[in-house]
Amino acid sequence: MADLKTSVQFIHGIGPQRAKALEKLGIATLGDLISWFPRRYEDRTQIVPIAQLDPDTPACVAAMIAAPPTLSHIRKGMDLVKVRAVDDTGMLEVTFFNQTWLKNQLHEGETYLFYGRAEGNLLRRRMTSPVVEPIGRREFTGRIVPIYPLTAGVSQLILSRSIRQGLDACTGILPDALPDEVRQAHHLCRINYAYENIHFPEHEEALALARRRLAFEELFFFTIGLQRLRRRREVVHVAPFSPVDMDAFYQALPFSLTGAQRRCVDEALSDMVSGVPMNRLCQGDVGSGKTMVAAACAYFCVKNGRQAALMAPTEILARQHYAGLAPLLEPLGIRCGLLTGSTPAREKRATAAALASGEIDFIIGTHALITGDLGYANLGLVITDEQHRFGVAQRAALAAKGSHPHTLVMSATPIPRTLALILYGDLDVSIIDELPPGRQPVATYAVPGSYHPRVYAFIRKLVDQGRQAYVVCPMVDEGEDGGSDERKAVTEYARHLQTEIFPDLRVAFVHGKMKPREKDAVMAAFAARETDILVSTTVIEVGVDVPNAAVMVVENAERFGLSQLHQLRGRVGRGKHQSYCILISDNRNEETRQRLRVMTKTTDGFRIAEEDLRLRGPGDFFGQRQHGLPGLRVADIGCDTALLQEAQAAARDLLERDPELTTCPATAQRVAELFAQNADTLN
Ligand code: ADP
Ligand code: MG
Repeated sequence: MADLKTSVQFIHGIGPQRAKALEKLGIATLGDLISWFPRRYEDRTQIVPIAQLDPDTPACVAAMIAAPPTLSHIRKGMDLVKVRAVDDTGMLEVTFFNQTWLKNQLHEGETYLFYGRAEGNLLRRRMTSPVVEPIGRREFTGRIVPIYPLTAGVSQLILSRSIRQGLDACTGILPDALPDEVRQAHHLCRINYAYENIHFPEHEEALALARRRLAFEELFFFTIGLQRLRRRREVVHVAPFSPVDMDAFYQALPFSLTGAQRRCVDEALSDMVSGVPMNRLCQGDVGSGKTMVAAACAYFCVKNGRQAALMAPTEILARQHYAGLAPLLEPLGIRCGLLTGSTPAREKRATAAALASGEIDFIIGTHALITGDLGYANLGLVITDEQHRFGVAQRAALAAKGSHPHTLVMSATPIPRTLALILYGDLDVSIIDELPPGRQPVATYAVPGSYHPRVYAFIRKLVDQGRQAYVVCPMVDEGEDGGSDERKAVTEYARHLQTEIFPDLRVAFVHGKMKPREKDAVMAAFAARETDILVSTTVIEVGVDVPNAAVMVVENAERFGLSQLHQLRGRVGRGKHQSYCILISDNRNEETRQRLRVMTKTTDGFRIAEEDLRLRGPGDFFGQRQHGLPGLRVADIGCDTALLQEAQAAARDLLERDPELTTCPATAQRVAELFAQNADTLN
């Protein structure tokens, strides 16, 4: 008897040739085959009378063939089969290209179902190469039809027939890894029903039931795996840090920390004295002051005689952190260092030596901090800033530079709680939910391109008052040579502003293709108020801090995700001045307008993140991660929030009753498989 590990070539009706085709999709076993889920579905259940065919909507027609099909040879490689089909309401001319066999398969006087897009007018309706089958077969017409992801050489027909054979071969042997009491408690259908109907749904409701069941189990197994990982982590023991008098640090600050900042620091410090490695996410909206939380933790770590590292995603940001923190911490006896990709080789060697010998206490840098041969004397704390920009693998690579160092992850993208649970399920979370005093919300407007003169006049007014402006220039489409296009867009737009709009003001520009030193020079000049207007791409998106900047103008705002716009907006409103964000877009798409409207209505990063997740799905949050989420093929964490919560509750419940999963070995095995395959994704 077959099982899920059986090679597809041994399945009745598939054989070696199809197996070879399926292999191209990575389908080797019966289990792979039935888990190749449709990408989408086409509802071909409604039969439309010929007279009511709407030219824009593909539809099913049931029609009788009125005359024998004709075959004509147009030219080499081009044969046409034509038939006329009729129903009670009208006549349809159907043409097939290069499907000569249909001449003998379509019979005069018999009724077929045709599925396709109709053309022509009321008097003369035509369909070209529709799907056709005898009425009653219901394989590709008259039902909800699965549409599978394909690759060259494998057609929908092959795939859908193979899956049909696969499901038939599974009768009675599908193991159900979901404990039956969980299944019943959450009103989920049985596994056989789920697989049958995710592929070949009887009707909409059956599809919804199947989807719900499969999405639930994915989220359920995923959550169990995460919770067990988390438990495993807690058994690592490290020498606890000792309490440190933090007064000197607090007194050195130019301001007192907000209550929320203090709470985050306290939470992190108590992690570090616990004897278990800290694994904490510090989430705070842009401008909430995460840097000082990081600084406090680094201070605490160094005063415990250990090294701390802070990794930022960009050169600009790393340098800015260094420029801000070194003058604060050096007088307190903390030797700081900076290491980035553009640090000259000689300096790099010196810094590496100082790190290895322990002469540097606190190193700030970019990915350069995780290069292979870089060694640390006694790394005790690893901080990653703007975590969503780093893959989990990078975070792990930095942690591997020490022996179970404490880790603090800082994220400025307020991640909806549900998503955070999945993304950072193995982390404790601190939230900075308070902005430093005196901040006014950034007034935000969405305007069409015709407002340019007014926008420019407004920039001029603010600059006259002593403020500075950011302008994010129009985006270019990623061409073959995306880099030079980006460069060109920025430089030309800056030149336009300088020569035609603001000849008397100081306009500078920065883009991703500039050398780090050039970038830094431009940023430093802007921070020192030597320039008034900074034109840029999204390189300024992350973390850059110039409190005197009071207006952010974003061209082609429709091209950005909400979270990205929120990050951009976060570059202003960081000082005591009323600040503005102007989103320019000529896009009339209703959804786009709705997104931009969200920006004008709220400055609450969490709300914006929820909206973004709802409108765009989780892709945005995973942006630069190398890996997707393991095993989530049916579940959509953008939409299945309620289901996720249900599955999480069920998982917690089960683990409380049976932490070792002894009562449900099938569940244990499934979770183990899932996490064995993805060990590098979730460490
Ligand atoms: P984030 O990284 O969370 O976006 P930053 O750490 O860059 O925010 O802080 C934003 C700005 O607020 C900086 O100019 C910083 O000096 C200032 N700041 C931070 N904490 C406070 C505070 N408690 N009171 C006043 N200003 C603060
Ligand atoms: Mg920051």
